[in-house]
Amino acid sequence: VDVFTRQKRSTIMAAIRSANTTPERVLRSALHRRGYRYILHDRRLPGAPDIVFSSRRIAIQVRGCFWHGHASCIDGHLPKTRRSYWLPKIHGNKRRDNRNDRSLRGLGWKVIVVWECRILNARTRTSEIRRVIRELEASSLRCPDG
Ligand SMILES: [Zn+2]
Repeated sequence: VDVFTRQKRSTIMAAIRSANTTPERVLRSALHRRGYRYILHDRRLPGAPDIVFSSRRIAIQVRGCFWHGHASCIDGHLPKTRRSYWLPKIHGNKRRDNRNDRSLRGLGWKVIVVWECRILNARTRTSEIRRVIRELEASSLRCPDG
C-alpha cells in the first residue's frame, strides 16, 4: 500500500517527471558559469542537438537513460512488463540517435554524449562535467586549418 495519499503521490510523481529535464539545465548552467556560450536545440543539425557550440563545431546530446536505452544503467533497463511495447520504441530511438550522431560526425562535428544519470547522480556529476569540458577544450587545441 502506498504510504502517500493520492494527491501527495501525484505531486511527487510530477516532481520526478520534471526532474527528468534537469540534467540538461544542470550541465548548461555549469558550462555557462565557466564562460561557455552555446545555442540550444539547433534544428538545422541532425537530431537537433541539445547544446551546440557553432564555432567549435561541437554538439552535446544529453540523453535520458530510459528513452534512449542506456545499457549500463539501472534507469536504462526495460520494465519487466509490456516489453513488446517498450522494446521497439527504445530500439527505434537508439537507431535514430546513432544515425544522427553519424550524420553530424560526417559533417565534421564532434558529438559529446552525456547520459542523464551521470549528471543526476551527485557522485558522478562533477567528473562528468569535467569530462565534457576536457572534450570541449581538446577540440579547441586543434588547428582549424588542419
Ligand atoms: Zn543512465
